[in-house]
Amino acid sequence: MYDTIIIGSGPAGYTAAIYAARANLNTLVLKGDQPGGQLTTTTVIENWPGYENGIDGNELMQKMEQQAKRFGADIEQKTVSRVNFKDQPFTVYVGEQVYQGKTIIIATGARARQTGAPGEDRLLGKGVSTCATCDGFFFKGKDVAVIGGGDTAMEEANFLTRFVNSVTIVHRRDSFRASKIMIDRTLNNPKITVQWDSTISQFNGQQHLESVTLHNLKTKQDITTPTAAVFLAIGHIPNSELFHDQIDLLPNGYIKSHGTSHTNVPGVFFAGDVEDEHYRQAVTAAAAGCRAAMDVERYLTQQ
Ligand SMILES: Cc1cc2nc3c(=O)[nH]c(=O)nc-3n(C[C@H](O)[C@H](O)[C@H](O)COP(=O)(O)OP(=O)(O)OC[C@H]3O[C@@H](n4cnc5c(N)ncnc54)[C@H](O)[C@@H]3O)c2cc1C
Repeated sequence: MYDTIIIGSGPAGYTAAIYAARANLNTLVLKGDQPGGQLTTTTVIENWPGYENGIDGNELMQKMEQQAKRFGADIEQKTVSRVNFKDQPFTVYVGEQVYQGKTIIIATGARARQTGAPGEDRLLGKGVSTCATCDGFFFKGKDVAVIGGGDTAMEEANFLTRFVNSVTIVHRRDSFRASKIMIDRTLNNPKITVQWDSTISQFNGQQHLESVTLHNLKTKQDITTPTAAVFLAIGHIPNSELFHDQIDLLPNGYIKSHGTSHTNVPGVFFAGDVEDEHYRQAVTAAAAGCRAAMDVERYLTQQ
């Protein structure tokens, strides 16, 4: 019987584990299919405080794992297949294997929606990015593209113009669905142009993205255009499928917050990108992990 079972091993899960284990709670982390989480898919992280020259994503996550272990957290390379939050203690299944916890912290993160075009997966982190805040700085003075037509795409495109030479927004329709104020700001930005009615049909490059092939859905023509980076801004999918009949989720799949890190089920808490559809940063996920562990501690004390 664990005091708390943490599902997920990104910055949210490991920070929760560090705080919970250090508070002397009997803590289990189930790492999932992506040990270390999303940061392990990138190279250098330049905005994690304390590393003035940046730190490799894998190295940072290994350090967090070691830190959680040092305080006594059990960490297992297992992926949860089913949960039961209807009865106490809560049950977490890994196939036939059963774990029980007095509390749960869900820290399963989110994944960026991708186009599915050839070359995209291979060049992810090598010019194909899911986060302008994270990677924009690497493309100072370059020509880049953003895919999408919503507020996020507009925000990312405008943000990128602070560093880059030009931004081409690639959008599959002939109008944006973003808010009017964001559309006006975007279309009035001299560094931004738009390829309407277009999708990316191929990401090209060997070691790094070099160009993209754009397909015009109206004229059916393909053009290949050089670009240093493509920022995907077509949405994120929270990894919450496991919990859909167990806790309240929002219509878009994100966990519905019932204050700080509480779900609607007392004793089940959340942390990180699985609930946060706005910031999606390592440091905000880590902060959420801290909050969840402190809420767990308070909940157990009250019990
Ligand atoms: C390419 C890339 C570059 C980025 N660069 C930066 C950057 O420079 N700076 C920055 O601040 N942010 C960056 N981010 C964003 C940052 O990585 C995320 O905001 C952060 O990792 C979210 O942390 P998390 O712990 O909530 O979730 P995640 O990191 O997504 O971790 C989720 C964890 O849940 C686990 N999991 C999922 N399902 C299950 C299951 N069924 N059972 C058990 N475990 C499960 C996964 O294995 C994973 O360990 C980047 C993201 C990407 C994709």
